[in-house]
Amino acid sequence: MPNLRAAALALLAGVLFPIPSHAAPTQPLKPAVQRQAMLLKSVPTQAKMIAFTFDDGPNRRYTPKVLELLQKYHAHATFFVIGQEVVRFPEMIGKIQSAGMEIGNHGMHHKWLHKITPDEVQQEITGGADAIVAAGGPKPYLYRLPGGFATESSSRLLGKLGYTVIGWSIDTRDWRMSASAGRIEQIVMKQAAPGRIVIMHDGSVRREPTLTALSHLLPALESQGYRIVSVGELLKKSDYVALRKLPPGPCQTARPKSQQKSKPARPHSWFERLLPGRHV
Ligand SMILES: [Zn+2]
Repeated sequence: MPNLRAAALALLAGVLFPIPSHAAPTQPLKPAVQRQAMLLKSVPTQAKMIAFTFDDGPNRRYTPKVLELLQKYHAHATFFVIGQEVVRFPEMIGKIQSAGMEIGNHGMHHKWLHKITPDEVQQEITGGADAIVAAGGPKPYLYRLPGGFATESSSRLLGKLGYTVIGWSIDTRDWRMSASAGRIEQIVMKQAAPGRIVIMHDGSVRREPTLTALSHLLPALESQGYRIVSVGELLKKSDYVALRKLPPGPCQTARPKSQQKSKPARPHSWFERLLPGRHV
Protein backbone atom coordinates (compact mmCIF):
# COMPACT_ATOMS: atom_id res chain seq x y z
CA MET A 1 0.00 0.00 0.00
CA PRO A 2 2.65 2.60 -1.00
CA ASN A 3 0.09 5.34 -1.49
CA LEU A 4 -1.37 4.95 1.98
CA ARG A 5 2.09 4.86 3.50
CA ALA A 6 3.12 7.98 1.64
CA ALA A 7 -0.05 9.74 2.73
CA ALA A 8 0.52 8.77 6.36
CA LEU A 9 4.13 10.00 6.20
CA ALA A 10 3.02 13.27 4.62
CA LEU A 11 0.41 13.72 7.33
CA LEU A 12 2.98 13.06 10.05
CA ALA A 13 5.43 15.46 8.44
CA GLY A 14 2.73 18.08 8.32
CA VAL A 15 2.10 17.69 12.05
CA LEU A 16 5.79 17.70 12.96
CA PHE A 17 6.86 20.35 10.48
CA PRO A 18 3.85 22.47 9.69
CA ILE A 19 4.22 24.71 6.66
CA PRO A 20 4.77 28.25 7.96
CA SER A 21 1.95 30.58 7.09
CA HIS A 22 4.20 32.66 4.83
CA ALA A 23 5.26 29.67 2.69
CA ALA A 24 3.68 29.16 -0.69
CA PRO A 25 0.83 26.67 -0.38
CA THR A 26 1.29 23.41 -2.26
CA GLN A 27 -2.41 22.73 -2.63
CA PRO A 28 -4.76 24.68 -4.89
CA LEU A 29 -6.07 27.72 -3.05
CA LYS A 30 -9.48 27.43 -1.50
CA PRO A 31 -11.74 30.43 -0.93
CA ALA A 32 -10.41 32.36 2.01
CA VAL A 33 -11.71 32.21 5.52
CA GLN A 34 -10.92 35.81 6.25
CA ARG A 35 -9.24 36.57 9.55
CA GLN A 36 -9.91 40.23 9.17
CA ALA A 37 -12.27 42.10 6.93
CA MET A 38 -10.96 43.89 3.88
CA LEU A 39 -11.42 47.59 3.33
CA LEU A 40 -11.97 49.33 0.01
CA LYS A 41 -11.92 53.08 -0.47
CA SER A 42 -11.71 53.12 -4.25
CA VAL A 43 -11.14 50.72 -7.11
CA PRO A 44 -8.48 50.97 -9.82
CA THR A 45 -10.22 51.07 -13.16
CA GLN A 46 -9.89 52.88 -16.46
CA ALA A 47 -13.66 52.88 -16.86
CA LYS A 48 -15.27 56.24 -16.14
CA MET A 49 -17.37 54.96 -13.27
CA ILE A 50 -17.96 56.52 -9.88
CA ALA A 51 -19.85 54.79 -7.06
CA PHE A 52 -22.31 56.86 -5.06
CA THR A 53 -23.24 55.76 -1.55
CA PHE A 54 -25.96 57.08 0.77
CA ASP A 55 -25.77 56.48 4.52
CA ASP A 56 -28.02 56.61 7.57
CA GLY A 57 -31.36 55.94 5.88
CA PRO A 58 -33.79 54.79 4.95
CA ASN A 59 -35.74 57.96 5.46
CA ARG A 60 -39.36 58.33 4.43
CA ARG A 61 -38.88 61.93 3.38
CA TYR A 62 -35.49 61.95 1.66
CA THR A 63 -34.81 58.44 0.36
CA PRO A 64 -37.63 58.54 -2.25
CA LYS A 65 -36.29 61.87 -3.53
CA VAL A 66 -32.79 60.46 -3.88
CA LEU A 67 -34.20 57.43 -5.70
CA GLU A 68 -36.19 59.66 -8.03
CA LEU A 69 -33.10 61.66 -8.98
CA LEU A 70 -30.96 58.57 -9.51
CA GLN A 71 -33.60 56.98 -11.73
CA LYS A 72 -34.03 60.19 -13.74
CA TYR A 73 -30.37 59.99 -14.74
CA HIS A 74 -30.22 56.18 -15.01
CA ALA A 75 -27.75 56.19 -12.15
CA HIS A 76 -27.25 53.55 -9.47
CA ALA A 77 -26.05 53.76 -5.89
CA THR A 78 -25.54 51.77 -2.70
CA PHE A 79 -27.66 52.60 0.34
CA PHE A 80 -25.96 51.79 3.65
CA VAL A 81 -29.00 51.58 5.86
CA ILE A 82 -29.27 51.63 9.66
CA GLY A 83 -31.22 48.68 11.10
CA GLN A 84 -33.39 50.74 13.45
CA GLU A 85 -34.43 52.98 10.55
CA VAL A 86 -35.26 49.90 8.49
CA VAL A 87 -37.51 48.74 11.35
CA ARG A 88 -39.25 52.15 11.30
CA PHE A 89 -39.64 52.26 7.51
CA PRO A 90 -39.48 48.65 6.27
CA GLU A 91 -41.33 49.49 3.04
CA MET A 92 -38.35 51.60 1.96
CA ILE A 93 -36.22 48.48 1.48
CA GLY A 94 -38.59 47.31 -1.27
CA LYS A 95 -38.56 50.77 -2.83
CA ILE A 96 -34.76 50.91 -2.88
CA GLN A 97 -34.56 47.45 -4.42
CA SER A 98 -37.25 47.96 -7.02
CA ALA A 99 -35.45 51.13 -8.12
CA GLY A 100 -32.49 48.87 -8.94
CA MET A 101 -30.26 50.06 -6.11
CA GLU A 102 -27.96 48.13 -3.81
CA ILE A 103 -28.35 47.79 -0.03
CA GLY A 104 -25.50 47.58 2.45
CA ASN A 105 -25.35 47.28 6.24
CA HIS A 106 -24.56 50.33 8.39
CA GLY A 107 -25.19 48.71 11.78
CA MET A 108 -28.33 48.32 13.87
CA HIS A 109 -28.12 51.56 15.86
CA HIS A 110 -25.22 53.38 14.21
CA LYS A 111 -23.06 52.82 17.28
CA TRP A 112 -19.38 53.60 16.97
CA LEU A 113 -17.76 50.19 17.26
CA HIS A 114 -14.80 51.33 19.36
CA LYS A 115 -17.17 52.54 22.08
CA ILE A 116 -18.97 49.24 22.71
CA THR A 117 -18.15 45.70 23.88
CA PRO A 118 -17.40 42.85 21.42
CA ASP A 119 -20.85 41.39 22.20
CA GLU A 120 -22.49 44.68 21.32
CA VAL A 121 -20.38 44.86 18.16
CA GLN A 122 -21.82 41.52 17.13
CA GLN A 123 -25.37 42.73 17.87
CA GLU A 124 -24.76 45.86 15.82
CA ILE A 125 -23.53 43.96 12.78
CA THR A 126 -25.90 41.00 12.80
CA GLY A 127 -28.85 43.13 13.98
CA GLY A 128 -28.40 45.46 11.00
CA ALA A 129 -28.31 42.54 8.58
CA ASP A 130 -31.32 40.85 10.20
CA ALA A 131 -33.37 44.04 9.91
CA ILE A 132 -32.62 44.27 6.18
CA VAL A 133 -33.55 40.63 5.59
CA ALA A 134 -36.70 40.89 7.76
CA ALA A 135 -37.83 43.82 5.61
CA GLY A 136 -37.46 41.67 2.49
CA GLY A 137 -34.00 42.82 1.47
CA PRO A 138 -31.00 40.70 0.49
CA LYS A 139 -28.43 39.42 2.96
CA PRO A 140 -25.89 42.24 2.82
CA TYR A 141 -22.22 41.64 2.02
CA LEU A 142 -21.03 45.24 2.19
CA TYR A 143 -20.56 47.07 5.48
CA ARG A 144 -19.95 50.70 6.23
CA LEU A 145 -18.49 51.57 9.61
CA PRO A 146 -20.44 54.22 11.55
CA GLY A 147 -18.03 57.11 11.96
CA GLY A 148 -15.37 55.03 10.18
CA PHE A 149 -14.31 53.35 13.44
CA ALA A 150 -13.06 49.75 13.46
CA THR A 151 -11.78 47.55 16.26
CA GLU A 152 -9.87 44.28 16.28
CA SER A 153 -13.01 42.28 17.14
CA SER A 154 -15.17 44.08 14.59
CA SER A 155 -12.63 43.49 11.83
CA ARG A 156 -12.44 39.78 12.63
CA LEU A 157 -16.18 39.39 12.90
CA LEU A 158 -16.87 41.28 9.69
CA GLY A 159 -14.28 39.10 7.94
CA LYS A 160 -15.78 35.93 9.37
CA LEU A 161 -19.24 36.96 8.24
CA GLY A 162 -17.94 37.57 4.72
CA TYR A 163 -18.32 41.32 4.64
CA THR A 164 -16.19 43.71 2.67
CA VAL A 165 -15.99 47.08 4.38
CA ILE A 166 -16.56 50.02 2.10
CA GLY A 167 -14.85 53.30 2.92
CA TRP A 168 -14.83 56.32 0.66
CA SER A 169 -12.44 58.42 -1.40
CA ILE A 170 -14.67 61.47 -1.87
CA ASP A 171 -16.12 62.82 1.38
CA THR A 172 -18.85 65.36 0.65
CA ARG A 173 -19.19 66.19 4.37
CA ASP A 174 -22.87 66.72 3.67
CA TRP A 175 -23.71 65.73 7.27
CA ARG A 176 -22.36 69.00 8.61
CA MET A 177 -24.86 71.65 9.59
CA SER A 178 -22.82 74.12 7.56
CA ALA A 179 -22.98 71.97 4.40
CA SER A 180 -24.21 73.71 1.28
CA ALA A 181 -25.15 72.32 -2.11
CA GLY A 182 -22.45 74.42 -3.76
CA ARG A 183 -19.73 73.12 -1.47
CA ILE A 184 -20.82 69.49 -1.93
CA GLU A 185 -20.80 69.92 -5.71
CA GLN A 186 -17.37 71.55 -5.60
CA ILE A 187 -15.89 68.70 -3.55
CA VAL A 188 -17.22 66.00 -5.87
CA MET A 189 -16.40 67.69 -9.18
CA LYS A 190 -12.88 68.52 -8.02
CA GLN A 191 -12.13 64.97 -6.89
CA ALA A 192 -14.08 62.98 -9.49
CA ALA A 193 -11.98 60.20 -11.03
CA PRO A 194 -12.61 56.66 -12.29
CA GLY A 195 -13.14 54.13 -9.49
CA ARG A 196 -13.78 56.60 -6.68
CA ILE A 197 -16.45 56.11 -4.01
CA VAL A 198 -18.52 59.09 -2.90
CA ILE A 199 -20.17 59.26 0.53
CA MET A 200 -23.42 61.18 0.98
CA HIS A 201 -26.39 60.84 3.34
CA ASP A 202 -30.10 60.28 2.80
CA GLY A 203 -30.95 59.76 6.46
CA SER A 204 -31.13 62.01 9.50
CA VAL A 205 -32.17 65.65 9.08
CA ARG A 206 -31.76 68.54 6.65
CA ARG A 207 -30.85 66.69 3.48
CA GLU A 208 -31.89 69.53 1.17
CA PRO A 209 -28.28 70.52 0.32
CA THR A 210 -27.56 66.87 -0.56
CA LEU A 211 -30.61 66.69 -2.84
CA THR A 212 -29.84 69.95 -4.60
CA ALA A 213 -26.20 68.95 -5.07
CA LEU A 214 -27.23 65.55 -6.40
CA SER A 215 -29.59 67.12 -8.92
CA HIS A 216 -26.63 69.09 -10.33
CA LEU A 217 -23.93 66.47 -9.92
CA LEU A 218 -25.66 63.67 -11.81
CA PRO A 219 -26.02 65.59 -15.12
CA ALA A 220 -22.62 67.26 -14.67
CA LEU A 221 -20.78 63.97 -14.22
CA GLU A 222 -22.81 62.37 -17.00
CA SER A 223 -21.78 65.15 -19.38
CA GLN A 224 -18.15 64.34 -18.55
CA GLY A 225 -18.74 60.74 -19.59
CA TYR A 226 -19.07 59.22 -16.11
CA ARG A 227 -21.47 56.44 -15.19
CA ILE A 228 -22.78 56.62 -11.64
CA VAL A 229 -22.93 53.10 -10.24
CA SER A 230 -23.39 51.11 -7.06
CA VAL A 231 -20.35 49.76 -5.20
CA GLY A 232 -21.23 46.26 -6.40
CA GLU A 233 -21.13 47.38 -10.04
CA LEU A 234 -17.81 49.10 -9.47
CA LEU A 235 -16.38 45.95 -7.92
CA LYS A 236 -17.43 43.89 -10.92
CA LYS A 237 -15.17 46.12 -13.02
CA SER A 238 -12.18 45.36 -10.81
CA ASP A 239 -10.06 42.43 -9.73
CA TYR A 240 -12.04 42.26 -6.51
CA VAL A 241 -13.60 38.90 -7.31
CA ALA A 242 -10.22 37.31 -8.03
CA LEU A 243 -8.67 38.81 -4.92
CA ARG A 244 -11.50 37.72 -2.67
CA LYS A 245 -10.62 34.10 -3.43
CA LEU A 246 -7.10 34.52 -2.16
CA PRO A 247 -6.36 33.45 1.41
CA PRO A 248 -5.38 35.99 4.06
CA GLY A 249 -1.79 36.55 5.09
CA PRO A 250 1.07 36.99 2.63
CA CYS A 251 -1.12 35.95 -0.28
CA GLN A 252 -2.85 39.27 0.13
CA THR A 253 0.06 40.62 -1.89
CA ALA A 254 -0.42 38.14 -4.72
CA ARG A 255 -1.84 39.54 -7.93
CA PRO A 256 -4.64 38.00 -9.93
CA LYS A 257 -3.58 36.03 -13.01
CA SER A 258 -4.52 38.83 -15.39
CA GLN A 259 -1.86 41.02 -13.79
CA GLN A 260 0.85 38.50 -13.01
CA LYS A 261 2.98 38.52 -16.20
CA SER A 262 6.65 39.00 -15.32
CA LYS A 263 6.28 41.62 -12.61
CA PRO A 264 6.73 40.54 -8.99
CA ALA A 265 3.74 40.64 -6.69
CA ARG A 266 3.17 43.85 -4.77
CA PRO A 267 0.48 44.90 -2.33
CA HIS A 268 -2.80 46.33 -3.51
CA SER A 269 -3.09 49.68 -1.84
CA TRP A 270 -6.77 49.79 -2.75
CA PHE A 271 -7.67 46.52 -1.07
CA GLU A 272 -6.32 46.57 2.43
CA ARG A 273 -6.91 44.82 5.70
CA LEU A 274 -9.32 46.51 8.04
CA LEU A 275 -7.10 47.46 10.95
CA PRO A 276 -8.38 48.92 14.22
CA GLY A 277 -8.70 52.68 14.13
CA ARG A 278 -10.59 55.33 12.24
CA HIS A 279 -10.90 55.07 8.48
CA VAL A 280 -11.87 58.36 6.98
ZN1 LIG B 1 -23.55 56.92 9.23
